[in-house]
Amino acid sequence: MSTNYDRRSFVKKLGASGLGIALFAREIMGQAADSAAASAKKIRNYKPGMKYRLVGSTGIYISAFSIGTTRGELEAISAGVDSGVNFIHTSANYIGGRAIDMVAKAIKGRTDKVYIALKGDFATLEETLKALGIPCADFVFFPQHDPDALRKNLSDIRTRFMTWRDKGLVKFAGLTSHKAMAECIDIALGADFFSCVMPAYGPAQVKELADRRSALAKKGMSIIAMKTKGELSDADYPAQITAALASGTVASVLRGVKTLEELKAWTAAANSAQTGWLRTRNGTQLAQDYHGCTMCGRCERACPKGIPTADVVRCVRYYHQAEHDPALAAGQFAEMGLALALTNCDNCGLCEASCPQKIGVRAELRRSREFGTAGLWS
Ligand code: SF4
Ligand code: SF4
Repeated sequence: MSTNYDRRSFVKKLGASGLGIALFAREIMGQAADSAAASAKKIRNYKPGMKYRLVGSTGIYISAFSIGTTRGELEAISAGVDSGVNFIHTSANYIGGRAIDMVAKAIKGRTDKVYIALKGDFATLEETLKALGIPCADFVFFPQHDPDALRKNLSDIRTRFMTWRDKGLVKFAGLTSHKAMAECIDIALGADFFSCVMPAYGPAQVKELADRRSALAKKGMSIIAMKTKGELSDADYPAQITAALASGTVASVLRGVKTLEELKAWTAAANSAQTGWLRTRNGTQLAQDYHGCTMCGRCERACPKGIPTADVVRCVRYYHQAEHDPALAAGQFAEMGLALALTNCDNCGLCEASCPQKIGVRAELRRSREFGTAGLWS
């Protein structure tokens, strides 16, 4: 287990390491940047060595690597803030319901150093803010994964956001989606109240969302990239972080951190974007070589029984296999009621016939049942 000494020396080493030299659009290279410039831009928690990028037209600069909390450990989150990370996204439902408490502990006494983004799935916003020890959330992200439902709910989402904003409880709105991302982004682009989007942004999306990035940039909106690992190997993942950040429209790569080693490797990869470091496999190569699930959601749209097969595949192949996180896979599987949904399957095969990645969806459904029965992911 890591000690406080480890955390201090990690932060010191991170601050002292030379990670690149280039400046490009709207981004600030920490060690080379004049701290006065950082101060003029009012960058919260600025630390030399950390890069910060503007989130659309909000005026807010966030760290190129930021902390998500679908997974995580307190010490790693705290070390992230120590090292200059200034954006944390959390939800009452993450880490078995412990995420809010963990974030509250990590930012206690320094809430002015970080921007807090909440997934809009809380019971009450006021209670969640109280638990975090903050009067206002900087961002609220509305989770929407079905374009038709998003179109239907858009007016209601806007009203909720405006009501909270008028009460001073939130500042900016974002849309988060891990299915049919391009369509969901198109809807967000047509709305007038989103400042940013948080799509799943693995190798496939770096390629597929190129035209959406241009449209977002024109509209003054940014991407905060989540689920960036896709099904890449651990060894290939840092290169994907730099590939994701190759576009200035991507403000930050967001991921939960469990260890100081993860934090160090992923922060270094984010800070190295555009410097040539970690270019051994660039984004185009990663996208071309990618054969995993792209989270497109086509399989479940093809299912005549309405079974959320993409969610099952995500639990098995992403949370369990790629993230090496059986507890997260089990938690998500249970939370979405997938075991019950799967009892309706009649094995017709339409789901896998529709998969552009040729993934054997039915085999993944079987695997999920086997995992559940054997308790392999609990
Ligand atoms: S095999 Fe099952 S999950 Fe797949 S489309 Fe048919 S009923 Fe739906
Ligand atoms: S399994 Fe195939 S169709 Fe289903 S979400 Fe993944 S890539 Fe898309």
